[in-house]
Amino acid sequence: MFDIEKIRADFPILSREICGKPLVYLDNAATSQTPSCVFERISDTYCRINANVHRGVHTLSQEATDAHESARERVRKFINAPKSEEVIFTRGTTESINLVASSFGKKYLSDGDEIILTVMEHHANIVPWQLLQSDKKIGLRVVPIDEHGVLDQEVYRSLFNERTRFVSLSHVSNVLGTVNPVKEMIRYAHEKGVPVLIDGAQAAPHLRIDVQDLDADFYVLSAHKVYGPTGIGVLYGKEKWLNEMPPYQGGGEMIAHVDFEKTTFGNLPFKFEAGTPDYVGTTAFASALDYVDRIGLENIASHEAGLMKYTTERLMKIEGMRIFGTAPEKSSVISFLVDGIHHYDMGMLLDKLGIAVRTGHHCAQPLMTSLGIEGTVRASFAVYNTQAEADAFITAVEKVVKMFK
Ligand code: PMP
Repeated sequence: MFDIEKIRADFPILSREICGKPLVYLDNAATSQTPSCVFERISDTYCRINANVHRGVHTLSQEATDAHESARERVRKFINAPKSEEVIFTRGTTESINLVASSFGKKYLSDGDEIILTVMEHHANIVPWQLLQSDKKIGLRVVPIDEHGVLDQEVYRSLFNERTRFVSLSHVSNVLGTVNPVKEMIRYAHEKGVPVLIDGAQAAPHLRIDVQDLDADFYVLSAHKVYGPTGIGVLYGKEKWLNEMPPYQGGGEMIAHVDFEKTTFGNLPFKFEAGTPDYVGTTAFASALDYVDRIGLENIASHEAGLMKYTTERLMKIEGMRIFGTAPEKSSVISFLVDGIHHYDMGMLLDKLGIAVRTGHHCAQPLMTSLGIEGTVRASFAVYNTQAEADAFITAVEKVVKMFK
């Protein structure tokens, strides 16, 4: 049974007041709140089993190692990866994409090669590819969107040529909410012999991810958007690529043997995990995934879809309202502007009314340029948001609009 009050009780922060008003947290696409089972797990790790992993013979180190490696297995199950060795822990989506761009780039890219991105990418899926351009003359080709925020598949297919080496695109847009048809796009890229990375930062909290069904070569996500702790991310990669790719960083944990003449590297996943991993974070992330599974991703998605429909319909009735992103397949974000009101003004006034939303370019400046705007106000839903909160948000937007009349 989906019991919203019981769910809300798991998130102590939701009982805060902001400016004397109950907090309505609608900035979930930036970071979701954390249920108590997650920070209790953090506290439990520090209180009972804190010790460096992988290198100790003593009991605490073995327990910490077991917990950390079980977390890897937990993530494997969450994304249905074939093997837990294909799950690399990173600091987040950003680091995961930088790892692939740098390592894949070193091994497989040369002057004149091309990479396909889309106009809706987060800066985390643009800048790492641009950094390669200081070493190699790599071309970036960009898939545009239509007026609903849907990727133009005809242009996508037309961008492939004999120099196309990689495709990197988001599963769900953090601004438009568009759910991209990544399975079909991957299939097409594979027909052309091109591997694909999917940025799943905005998909993981809302959609069931099956990397085998998608046949993704790489899939990346961040724990802090899936009710987990900050500073933990995932890079899933097919073994065949990860085995061939050179290490990203060097240091302890990632080696087999070190000599001043020659060093050999460890096996997967350790080859890509230099230094002491954040085992406190990985184990807490496993607790977050258990929490999500207890509620059920499908239940979360249908609850959020109800809130999205209700809020969108009511917002559309406000004079001067423009919603960016009206794709038929859309996830839990609503980006909007009201004529004559700057997004920062809207965001700041909403905060005074207890409503937390995000304003600005949402780390997607090329998308803003293509839409001909500087930024939007973005409200985004999570499992614990209620219809009463949606009402409070809509009433607050109406109030701000009246102030500007
Ligand atoms: N990609 C997308 C689609 C995102 O929404 C975000 C977070 N806003 C990122 C990448 C970057 O994630 P992180 O900051 O956790 O590395």
